[in-house]
Amino acid sequence: MAVLAEQFDVVVLGGGPAGYATALYGAAAGLDVALVEETRVGGTCLHRGCIPAKELLQTAEVLRTIQRAPDFGVDAGVPSLDLARSQARKREVIDRLTKGLESLLKGRKVTVFDQRGEVVDAEAHRVRLADGTEVEGANLVIATGSYPRSLPRLDFDAARVLSSDHVLELEKVPPRVAIIGGGVIGAEFASMLADMGSEVTIIEALPRILAATDVDAGNVVARSFKKRGIGVHTSARVTGIEGATELTVTWETDAGEGSAVVDTIIVSVGRAPRSGGIGLEGSGVEIDDRGFVVVDEQLRTGVAGVYAAGDVVDTPALAHVGFAEAVVIVKTIIGESVTPIDYGKVPWVVYSHPEVAWCGLTEEQARAEGHDVVVSTHRFAGDARAMILGDTEGLVKMVADADGQVLGVHLAGPWATELLGEGYLSVNWEANAADIAALIHPHPTLSEVFGEAALTLTGRSIH
Ligand code: NAD
Repeated sequence: MAVLAEQFDVVVLGGGPAGYATALYGAAAGLDVALVEETRVGGTCLHRGCIPAKELLQTAEVLRTIQRAPDFGVDAGVPSLDLARSQARKREVIDRLTKGLESLLKGRKVTVFDQRGEVVDAEAHRVRLADGTEVEGANLVIATGSYPRSLPRLDFDAARVLSSDHVLELEKVPPRVAIIGGGVIGAEFASMLADMGSEVTIIEALPRILAATDVDAGNVVARSFKKRGIGVHTSARVTGIEGATELTVTWETDAGEGSAVVDTIIVSVGRAPRSGGIGLEGSGVEIDDRGFVVVDEQLRTGVAGVYAAGDVVDTPALAHVGFAEAVVIVKTIIGESVTPIDYGKVPWVVYSHPEVAWCGLTEEQARAEGHDVVVSTHRFAGDARAMILGDTEGLVKMVADADGQVLGVHLAGPWATELLGEGYLSVNWEANAADIAALIHPHPTLSEVFGEAALTLTGRSIH
């Protein structure tokens, strides 16, 4: 006898940013939504990613501030770190946010099934829950996220070889750490652990860490890391890992071989889509050879009424991109006109010290695309607020076309992640540098540096 499935307008599989945003925005648009999530809602971002990482990076920031207190004439004694206590604070923040999210979902009358679900019939948009219940939607959204990639012959063991999940649960600061992969996660952890007192070595396969950044912004971080004693080895290939308690990591670069003796290895070589084991095999939903669910610009799979969003599709693995994709899906479902996301112009934010943030084309990309490029770079070193903060490393770099249209904005330095807002708007509204230059930036602020960068593109400047 066929099981009678509970009916909804939309069934969402996965309660991370892409999934819960689909549920919340869908409910706000009047849809009856079911959200299927096997753990607590919030996904990687809230439980194993953005939020815990930024929380622990804030601990590092507090420590750094206290260490600099004597520069300001403040005697704060000798700072020490109790990471277990910091973890407890992290859990409180996560718990508050999770409860907030749960009550938002409840308030919008989203039906949350806190069980594992699997697609049993993609064409019918039907999902079977662990207890055998079946739910069916007029639409189905796959938002099952991603997991940390491991390296061959280097399995995560939660003790010596750690993924980002494990790092975010550390109760003690490891004295010596090798980080394989100097991308976004690698840079954030290197910065955090170095501030907390670890001896850190980064081994990165590409010619530079944070390879996706504009080279000038990325170099700010590379230089700062070097100054803080972080070992950065680029164009490097790990050739061996030996030992049981102490681990000797060896690598090879064009310049020769290197090695480091460490207690812990962190592997941060990217994340992989979680598309296996959820009933998609043979369902008609196409999965590419790297495991991503294949979608069009409206996040539609090849099966009518089935969508996918977030880390499970091959778009930037960022929570805010998941939010934006959720909006596109809901608008498509309710038949509103939709502007597809321009993935080349999404905001990127890295919370290392110094922070990096950018939007749009790097100088190199703009030249490669054939633009007649003009560049304006202003450094925080000359900025009053940065001096007052005692945080003068970094720059604002504006990349524009010869007619002044802003193509990319790149920041490195204090509060870069918060300062990106104007840069994001400039790139996405296709602003002209002259228009921005006519706008007033308050003094003394960090944001003045952005105003100066635009002003310089008009051919004159003040500072
Ligand atoms: P990533 O793609 O940013 O960096 C991975 C790095 O590992 C790359 O530089 C790559 O060249 C290097 N690498 C790969 N294999 C290697 C090997 N065998 N040896 C040495 N180096 C190797 O990936 P990630 O840092 O793991 O982060 C995953 C995703 O998570 C990011 O793409 C990002 O979207 C998201 N994330 C975002 C934030 C943020 O927004 N602040 C923070 C963390 C993660």
